[in-house]
Amino acid sequence: MQQTKILLDEKDLPDHWYNVVADMPNAPAPYLGPDGNPVPPEAMMQIFPEALVMQEVSAERWIPIPQEVREALTMWHPSPLVRAHRLEKELGTPAKIYFKNESISPAGSHKPNTAVAQAYYNKEAGIKRLTTETGAGQWGCSLALAGQMFGIDVRVFMVKVSYEQKPYRRSLMQTWGAEVFPSPTDMTEAGRTILAQHPDSQGSLGISISEAVEEAAGRDDTNYALGSVLNHVLLHQTIIGLEAKKQLEMVGDYPDMIFAPCGGGSNFGGIAFPFFADKAAGKKIDLVAVEPSSCPTLTKGVYAYDFGDTIGLTPLMKMFTLGHDFMPPGIHAGGLRYHGDSALVSQLYKEGLIDAVAVPQLETFEAGVQFARTEGIVPAPESCHAIAGAIREAKRCKETGEAKTLLFNLSGHGHFDMTSYERFIAGELSNFDYPEEAIKESLQHLPNVG
Ligand SMILES: *Cc1c(COP(=O)(O)O)cnc(C)c1O
Repeated sequence: MQQTKILLDEKDLPDHWYNVVADMPNAPAPYLGPDGNPVPPEAMMQIFPEALVMQEVSAERWIPIPQEVREALTMWHPSPLVRAHRLEKELGTPAKIYFKNESISPAGSHKPNTAVAQAYYNKEAGIKRLTTETGAGQWGCSLALAGQMFGIDVRVFMVKVSYEQKPYRRSLMQTWGAEVFPSPTDMTEAGRTILAQHPDSQGSLGISISEAVEEAAGRDDTNYALGSVLNHVLLHQTIIGLEAKKQLEMVGDYPDMIFAPCGGGSNFGGIAFPFFADKAAGKKIDLVAVEPSSCPTLTKGVYAYDFGDTIGLTPLMKMFTLGHDFMPPGIHAGGLRYHGDSALVSQLYKEGLIDAVAVPQLETFEAGVQFARTEGIVPAPESCHAIAGAIREAKRCKETGEAKTLLFNLSGHGHFDMTSYERFIAGELSNFDYPEEAIKESLQHLPNVG
């Protein structure tokens, strides 16, 4: 029988995270304050525990995973690597297609991989509460779950449009014990400022981050947790790629190309960085971040210092950005509606060491439906981007006859996104025009530093 699922034993769960900084040709650009001076690590300790701040600035190649975090991760890890035989057959491609199935976590995505680590370090630091933002709801669910596992209260500022469109994501967070508020709220200065300017604001990730950071900065018992973008988040996600590498070894394979959806860069970094280590040592492999063409941060943004949030409370990060006040169209892949990107992913892209493509919404749903009909799993709209990228390449291989090995990250399932599928199947979805004017406008508001 042909092998479909490639499984690791629990004892093969990685015991170290891989830090890509050790293999980057140039040191990461430092975070800057509004005055243009580097932010000292101590300043970040106002909202993050020291252990995470140390990971944020670490250049060590391997960072040990605490035993309690490994035990928490065994709830869903190691996750399966799957050979997509049926999709390959349907496409008639000579390419081999593998996917790493991160949809099997309780929250349905890769995000709990970092949530448990962040909850653990906060608990160790004596923190009682965590605040955070959530867009589509994946991150809020992940932190709610992790908070429950480590005995920490969680308060979630959920982007208002998602709060209304995704009531079951909200209930899931509440089931795991979190408090959830539609953002902008009138509970923070940031929320009140936005509401004064735009009383009908539907919210954005940038606004929710402002609210969560403000509250965490104002209370000693409360810290903030971010689901993507930051170096320590990408670090925690590297268990995805580390496991995938071992799993491919078990079947004597190695990828020519890796695809992952890219919002803030965490699942891309998670699957791609452990392979970047080989690339830095001379191995040929293409690492492709796939983004929506309506929020094309890497492919159409500029590489500049910008804020991570809308109001400008976060340090400035050198990254590809569409401008911190860019409001992306209401695409269905909520997790990919972010104006910026991880500084590490951005720097590697700038240096030509990784690739990026932008895919229009309809192509992503076509790919998702084709995947559901062949491989069974209904993918998250975000994950559909990676699938679309892999399908494009598999079709290209069909033309050229190349038998490439393709790997993509199935970052999550779409069980809470069925309204989007329903609308796609009814023919009600469309592509969005590339928001050129809006991007041009917001890029004029970039802070003048660096
Ligand atoms: C949040 C999310 C993403 C995008 O975030 P990254 O930090 O870029 O990984 C992708 N897929 C799913 C399922 C998500 O929940």
